[in-house]
Amino acid sequence: MFNIAIDGPSGAGKSTVARAAAKQLGFIYVDTGALYRAIGLFAVRAGADTKDAGQIVQLLDGIELSLKIEDGTQHVIMNGEDVSGLIRTPEISMAASDVSKVPEVRTFLLQLQRDIAAQNDCLMDGRDIATVILPDAQIKIFLTASAEVRAKRRYLELLEKGENVTYGEVLDDVNKRDYQDSHREIAPLKPSEQSVIVDTSDMSLEQSTEAVISIVREKYNK
Ligand code: C5P
Repeated sequence: MFNIAIDGPSGAGKSTVARAAAKQLGFIYVDTGALYRAIGLFAVRAGADTKDAGQIVQLLDGIELSLKIEDGTQHVIMNGEDVSGLIRTPEISMAASDVSKVPEVRTFLLQLQRDIAAQNDCLMDGRDIATVILPDAQIKIFLTASAEVRAKRRYLELLEKGENVTYGEVLDDVNKRDYQDSHREIAPLKPSEQSVIVDTSDMSLEQSTEAVISIVREKYNK
């Protein structure tokens, strides 16, 4: 199978770019952040303290997760419930970042991600895809942008959804999550040695998508 790993911080345009590039290339798009978000949602619903690793580990036995692709769109199924729409709030973003620090959570999700990549030509997006999940991916890209640009993009996205937030809050959240994601002991956010770094600060989504596609096409003619 041909696997493309795209890693990077939140708000770099990763999911939009990855989804568009996957579509144009005819690959399945896999958003691994949704898996951590689902576990975050489960923990919040259970009333657990998401910063308490011990509590999170105890919950894992009660969680069954799978990904379903329908008309090219990924759905996250947790214990039979499609939670795709419920995991996109700032509260669940932070909970996902918390639970993703727990080694047992990462191990819990490892095989699921590898199985999908073993069965499909796919473009998988996350934080540790090139470094940990798919070290043999044929193409590895690290998509990033400045914290301010990323916060502005996320802010506009949330406003559009009717969320009541300020730019300052979103920037704080981006900085907090960046710090947490890149300083955790296990699978910290960082480019692999082979990753091509794409900085989208001054690029539109179309330009970013083009940049990704041209990197892929250089190696793979599809
Ligand atoms: O990409 P997204 O913002 O949906 O991810 C939510 C959180 O899940 C991130 O802040 C990160 O902490 C975590 N994550 C991770 N490894 C991945 C994907 C996401 O640790 N492969």
